[in-house]
Amino acid sequence: MILQLRQIFELSGQSVDIDVSLPAEQLNESEPFLEFSAPLEIRGAVKSRSGVVTLDYAVKTTLSQQCDRCLKAFDREYGYEFSHTLVRELANDSDEDEYEDYIVCPDNTLDIAELALSELKLSLPSKILCNEDCLGLCPVCGQDLNEGDCECEEI
Ligand SMILES: [Zn+2]
Ligand SMILES: [Zn+2]
Repeated sequence: MILQLRQIFELSGQSVDIDVSLPAEQLNESEPFLEFSAPLEIRGAVKSRSGVVTLDYAVKTTLSQQCDRCLKAFDREYGYEFSHTLVRELANDSDEDEYEDYIVCPDNTLDIAELALSELKLSLPSKILCNEDCLGLCPVCGQDLNEGDCECEEI
């Protein structure tokens, strides 16, 4: 979904509400490494106040995942909040680090679906565990050690 922001940039005191729901089927087609079991909900607003344009939004979804240690499948809900300052261009002498939270919208538009999806992916944990204390599988017999010890000798 593309937000049209020309008015926001040119008039102060404006705001645009964001309320987007991307269907799971569509996301599963475009995102081969994730499996969505619920839509990706994006809610928030773009506001301009005293010449400064800010974007605040929250994403929420549910993913079907598999534990990296015991391979158990489960659904888990994820939710994150993000804030940015939107600008049409960065000053030439700008120090990149200082503008980390800035998003440049040179043509007065912002693809909120693309942004939300990329920020979601960056926020997800790199290790997926069914439980912090998951014991995993026995490397010898494959027994799920969360369900009890096996007969194998300790390695
Ligand atoms: Zn596990
Ligand atoms: Zn074993």
